[in-house]
Amino acid sequence: MYCPKCKAEYVDEITVCPNCNLKLVKKLSENPADDFVEFVTILKTGNQAITAIAKSILDEAEIKYFATGEHMQGVFGMGLGFAPSATFGEVEIKVSKEDREIAEKLLEDLKNEE
Ligand SMILES: [Zn+2]
Repeated sequence: MYCPKCKAEYVDEITVCPNCNLKLVKKLSENPADDFVEFVTILKTGNQAITAIAKSILDEAEIKYFATGEHMQGVFGMGLGFAPSATFGEVEIKVSKEDREIAEKLLEDLKNEE
């Protein structure tokens, strides 16, 4: 049993979370969107032009993404940020697992151009 608020796990005999005073649920999957979303890399390139085009394609398709530059990873971490061009290294564009298929399809032509 799980508490929907603090997400603590309890044995089956317990039905109410002693911390939150909330009824426990069997699974936390009732609102999976609130849980962490897994991101996968769909494009990895050191070519700034390719990255820019990929960004605009994803923007247009309204797909959420973020990019990590190898040299900036420590600074941006999981944030939504692009490395400034001055320190532009190899960049990975990541999308959530749900969007992976459509995003890969959209960027297929782009990869062929490179
Ligand atoms: Zn709780």
